[in-house]
Amino acid sequence: MNTPKGWYEGVSMSRFSMCIGCEGKIPYVSALYTEKKLGSRSRSHRASTYSVASWSRQLCVSCQLSISYIEQIGCPHCGRAVRCTDCERHPLLAYGLAANRSAVAYSEAMKAWLHRFKFQGDAGYAAIMAGMMLHRYELLAATISNFHQQISISPLPFYERLRRWLYRLPSVPYPDVVTFVPSTAERLVERGFNPAERLATLLATAWDCPVMPLLTRMTDQGRQSHLGRSGRELALAGAYRCHTQTLQTLCANTNTSNKSPMYILLVDDVYTTGSTVRACAGALTGALRDYEISAIICSYTWARA
Ligand SMILES: [Zn+2]
Ligand SMILES: [Zn+2]
Repeated sequence: MNTPKGWYEGVSMSRFSMCIGCEGKIPYVSALYTEKKLGSRSRSHRASTYSVASWSRQLCVSCQLSISYIEQIGCPHCGRAVRCTDCERHPLLAYGLAANRSAVAYSEAMKAWLHRFKFQGDAGYAAIMAGMMLHRYELLAATISNFHQQISISPLPFYERLRRWLYRLPSVPYPDVVTFVPSTAERLVERGFNPAERLATLLATAWDCPVMPLLTRMTDQGRQSHLGRSGRELALAGAYRCHTQTLQTLCANTNTSNKSPMYILLVDDVYTTGSTVRACAGALTGALRDYEISAIICSYTWARA
């Protein structure tokens, strides 16, 4: 949907657009109002692509209200809304993962949206999901207390400092590199794209930082959605490796004299048992140690099951 540029375009264009969530009509007044109320809070609006910056415009008010944002962090490790014993049994840090945060709880409505994005290839959902992740990033990142001690916060431009002061936004770090959970070759052929890569690319573009394919998927043991926790852990053991060539590029561009560790953000669509991000973080941590790169890895997923 294009914004009318003047009175002529305003009266000549259709008065409605279609909601990408429910395919219902969105009147322009509502669309423009919701853009103002729920617009992206990405660090650099100029760097955002049009569709991500205006993601909320593509949803009707009812669909916007159906978004099940995680409002409070019950588990400080995996970012679940309720306290979880999983992280006590399998601490993320043991795999080199500082923390996970997710934008939404994986409700029935969110499941339906992801299904349309993943299995029907509806690319419009990528912008909407990335928009939600951008919208929630600052609030979620602020809940990781270690950030402030371990990761340096790069100096922000004056207008951004002013905006934060005006809206009382916390100062949170943005990643030095964004990476993503890789797909198997079979899935790539089947779907034609990797959902995690799409989300990572949209986030990195909005934050004006590089996105690098640091990981590769070695084997395909079939779909894991039917497996339990221990089954998934076993299936994923050794399934991910660091992409050596990309890691070498990262090394070449890393200033080793810089004392503060690099902040790597691993992006995926859904955190279910955490076995995928744990396996990825484990592979990444081992390779970074070999290359003597000091890094903090966090994961950020669109949904938390
Ligand atoms: Zn709708
Ligand atoms: Zn947890």
